[in-house]
Amino acid sequence: MTNKRILILGGGFGGLYAALRLEKLMAQRPELEVTLVTRENYFLFTPMLPEVAAGDLELNTIVNPLRKLLKRLKTFVGTIEAIDLQGQQVAVSHGGHSHDLPYDQLILALGEGTNFFNLPGVEASCLTVKTLGDAVAIRNQLITHLEEANSECAAGKRQPLLTFIVAGGGFAGVETLGGINDFMREAIRFYPSLRPEYLRFILVTPDEVILPELNRKLGLYAQRKLAARGVEIITHAKVTAMGDGVVELTNGDKILANTLIWTAGTAPNPLITGLPLPKRNGRIAVDECLAVEGWPGVWAVGDCASVCNPAGGFYPPTAQHALREGNIVARNVAATLYGRPKRKPFRYTSLGQLAAIGRRTGVANILGLNFSGFIAWWLWRTVYLSKLPRLEKKVRVAMDWTLDLCFTKDFACVTTPSRADRRATLLSSLETEQAAMRAVKDIVLTRAEFSGLSRMQQMIKHSNLPGNSSSGDSD
Ligand SMILES: Cc1cc2nc3c(=O)[nH]c(=O)nc-3n(C[C@H](O)[C@H](O)[C@H](O)COP(=O)(O)OP(=O)(O)OC[C@H]3O[C@@H](n4cnc5c(N)ncnc54)[C@H](O)[C@@H]3O)c2cc1C
Repeated sequence: MTNKRILILGGGFGGLYAALRLEKLMAQRPELEVTLVTRENYFLFTPMLPEVAAGDLELNTIVNPLRKLLKRLKTFVGTIEAIDLQGQQVAVSHGGHSHDLPYDQLILALGEGTNFFNLPGVEASCLTVKTLGDAVAIRNQLITHLEEANSECAAGKRQPLLTFIVAGGGFAGVETLGGINDFMREAIRFYPSLRPEYLRFILVTPDEVILPELNRKLGLYAQRKLAARGVEIITHAKVTAMGDGVVELTNGDKILANTLIWTAGTAPNPLITGLPLPKRNGRIAVDECLAVEGWPGVWAVGDCASVCNPAGGFYPPTAQHALREGNIVARNVAATLYGRPKRKPFRYTSLGQLAAIGRRTGVANILGLNFSGFIAWWLWRTVYLSKLPRLEKKVRVAMDWTLDLCFTKDFACVTTPSRADRRATLLSSLETEQAAMRAVKDIVLTRAEFSGLSRMQQMIKHSNLPGNSSSGDSD
């Protein structure tokens, strides 16, 4: 069959749940050819990312290899370079070469990128919280700064090393800050030259109250709790620049800090920006069945799509929406391929939202009811544990959480040299080797010269050249 090729671009919530639904369909329709194309070979459970950054969970507990989740459909791991909508093919590169993957139906689930608003020094100096690598980088930076600040030589430079600023008061920013605040205050006890009062954690938000996605009451509760734990919250302000260990804010503050964690802006995925598809605020405009109008066979879900909510406005870009959109789009693609006219519109009313703010405290709004404190934190853990794919990972996370109750957090800083570092090391060892070879060559030349000189001496010695008195005398 040549007209049943479905390509899913992106292996996040939208792409994975579309793939899982299509897998079920493939059991009855063997002619279906479905391929999931994505950069990483795993599915990342982003709601638990701040827990990895804060050392509550081991990094492999929140990722699932795609090949363990998807048995029938093909997984293609690579970087999507270009999408040719006219030619119905996608260029994907891996290992230094490129492939063109043709399709009949295309599901775009590429998520979104980060917006640094071209602020001076911000993109180059800050850390983000989007990928597993980001979470590991944050944890490593926290520990590296503790180690550095503890040494005698850092006595005058401690403040910027021990000041951590988070830009953005949404879920990702607040959860990350709450987690790293706990982590550092626990770890600092093991550093004899440092005291908890040296630590500064600052949250910068343009809003009046943090967590605007929830409600004012819960936002104020979270603010009070974080402030009681030593977090400074600066409202009505934005970061304007970062450089030379100084973070500048719109309110005129200049804060000495070497760490800025950026959760303050999203931008469309650059691949989506370049497509000639209808857009709303940079996201692909889809109809209620998640199809792109005017482009038969093209669909979009998740953070890269703009889906109208019949109750008014648009659905928010969250995991809980993306995964349900993935499910619906798979059904609608199948209906289109098999000539079933009835497509299912996307309708979803969120049951609520939850956030963990550290030290067994949370805030939640479920079915319109507010929960805070331990009960909200317990709900957060229960709900997200149930959503994490695969039993193995659920058990690993539950074990990590249980062990966390008995033991202190681990603060070993495990780093692998980056590709650039490895290249630099290789180059410097090559240079050393070349220098050594040049030195050896010099020694060889010197020896050659030396042996040449000795031979000349011998020749002179045995010749009857005038002035060679010794030879003449002996004869
Ligand atoms: C720290 C954090 C915490 C969050 N907490 C919550 C929460 O508690 N509840 C909630 O509902 N939502 C939460 N979210 C939001 C949620 O993660 C997103 O809404 C959701 O991931 C969107 O799913 P998606 O499939 O659209 O995009 P993503 O999950 O971002 O997936 C995009 C996929 O596309 C791939 N991709 C992109 N470009 C390319 C390319 N060029 N080549 C190859 N592959 C590419 C990526 O590798 C990825 O696999 C959180 C987000 C973050 C960052």
